[in-house]
Amino acid sequence: MSAVGNGPIAALQDLKKARILVTNDDGYQAPGLEILEEIASQLSDDVWLVAPEVEQSGAGHSLTLRRPLRVRQRGPRHFSVDGTPTDCVLLAVSKILGDRRPDLVLSGVNRGGNMGEDVTYSGTVAAAMEATFLGVPAIALSQEYDASDRIDWGAAADFAPGIIRRLAAGPWHRDLLYSINFPPCPAEKVKGVRAVAQGRRSGHIAVIEGRDPKGRPYMWIGDYTDESSDQPGTDLEAVAHHAVAVTPLHLDLTHAPSLEPLDTLLR
Ligand code: MN
Repeated sequence: MSAVGNGPIAALQDLKKARILVTNDDGYQAPGLEILEEIASQLSDDVWLVAPEVEQSGAGHSLTLRRPLRVRQRGPRHFSVDGTPTDCVLLAVSKILGDRRPDLVLSGVNRGGNMGEDVTYSGTVAAAMEATFLGVPAIALSQEYDASDRIDWGAAADFAPGIIRRLAAGPWHRDLLYSINFPPCPAEKVKGVRAVAQGRRSGHIAVIEGRDPKGRPYMWIGDYTDESSDQPGTDLEAVAHHAVAVTPLHLDLTHAPSLEPLDTLLR
């Protein structure tokens, strides 16, 4: 059932029979999770949901090690865990789903894009990374928005099932996961689906200083100072032009071109 080698994955050839695990980082009650469950239900009849009890955005690939985790069953094949997205996937695959592991893990749909450097902070992407470590093919899904108080999930809802079907039918490297970012526009305004690289923003994350109601100083991690990127062929550029961005990610962080010069340097 796991991803071995570079070829198509047998278990994904017939998605209708695949066991799909749905998780996220926005928490068990997030609207994007409901949308993702609906997307997964269009693909298979065997959909399981294991998600964090409370929001874990920015949790990255963190594990809960210093306290026990509690699992609560919320309904048939529905569970919440008082931990991180990584905890959820680990517990789901190892224990909660029982004898049959998932054939595919879907994480999201995140409230907001996970592009460029977000990939390293994102709990949504980390859940997909954890699945990949466990040998389960995984896809992270994120919906970018213009105004956070009225996020339009239409692009994700309309485009995700078709894209997931196409990804499942293709070759799947053992160390590979996909991250899909949907643009902040109505589905009918989407300008295609592009395969793109992870980009990098022009700005950096701002730290905001202020004083609390008792006059004590605080620092609060804010947003990027500049969200824009002019790098063509990246997730940031594609989504800025209202295309769906599909990025193949892998877990080996080695900077391969540096290996040889480093070896020379260390001799
Ligand atoms: Mn999130």
